[in-house]
Amino acid sequence: MFSAPGPAAEPPAPTTAPSCSPQQLDALIELADRTKLRAYADYSKFRVGAALLAADGTMFSGCNVENSSYGLTMCAERVALFTAVAAGFNSFRAVVVTHDAKGTYVYPCGACRQVLSEFGDIDVYCVQPDGKVSRSRLSQLLPVAFSKAELDKVAAARG
Ligand SMILES: [Zn+2]
Repeated sequence: MFSAPGPAAEPPAPTTAPSCSPQQLDALIELADRTKLRAYADYSKFRVGAALLAADGTMFSGCNVENSSYGLTMCAERVALFTAVAAGFNSFRAVVVTHDAKGTYVYPCGACRQVLSEFGDIDVYCVQPDGKVSRSRLSQLLPVAFSKAELDKVAAARG
């Protein structure tokens, strides 16, 4: 019989050094929070903002964009990532996610974890509305991501 999972545990603290400075983290949080205010979340009423730090320090942001079909809704993290890629960036250091749900961290959904993993392992900062921050590595949140390596294995197996 199916039983719903309980509350998600927080991932352990990463052993790697933070990939952005405290000043950059503050700027990313502010950018994500500002972008969150533009979320189109008429259905869920759950606004999310994301800010992505490119390798050279450039920052990109996104908010969730919902749709009356529900299934076509796009998450803030992917909006930020696709905006960055469209601007010519494909190397990143960190993503920050902000939301309005007090007292809890909200981690990127599985789809966003997979899409972000295409561009490497980065720091994921989840921020509560009161400013509490949880840092984890994307590889902790998605330890066995599907990648180009899987496609190479398939090609090799075909001969
Ligand atoms: Zn998502």
